Amino acid sequence: MNEDRPSDGAGDRSLADCGSAQVADCLLCREDGGELILRTPLLRIVRVDDSDYPGFCRVILNAHVRELTDLDPATLARVIAAVCAVEEAQRAVLAPEKINLASLGNQVPHLHWHVIPRDRNDAHFPQPIWGERQRAPEPERIAARLALLPRLAAEICSRIAPQ
Ligand SMILES: [Zn+2]
Repeated sequence: MNEDRPSDGAGDRSLADCGSAQVADCLLCREDGGELILRTPLLRIVRVDDSDYPGFCRVILNAHVRELTDLDPATLARVIAAVCAVEEAQRAVLAPEKINLASLGNQVPHLHWHVIPRDRNDAHFPQPIWGERQRAPEPERIAARLALLPRLAAEICSRIAPQ
């Protein structure tokens, strides 16, 4: 686990300009939102505990920002770079059929991205993971993915470090 990296502090002052105070009734202001892999001053990357989707990660802004376009361009670029870093790490370690990226926030309007490795034989493919369940995932595949999670976390940390 990597705590606040000083190299990532430069752009955070700008968040004060976009209504980023912590909001008391917001889940993602109160909690990490998953098992913490890495936290920078700007954002955190967590692993989602979903038994169908080992390796499912979220990139979550630390500040309470509602929409992507509330960010200044430099901060926006850093957020997108972090999402891409997670995607690259998932591709390198898990070799999924497809990566799904989603930023919904209807229930929790605190900017976050879901980064989800998908496979043809997973529980919902080709539907979104929030769609109708298509099949039971193969236990062997799930076990193989679970075994790769430490490597995935290390790969994510190595890709975010120079941010
Ligand atoms: Zn929030």
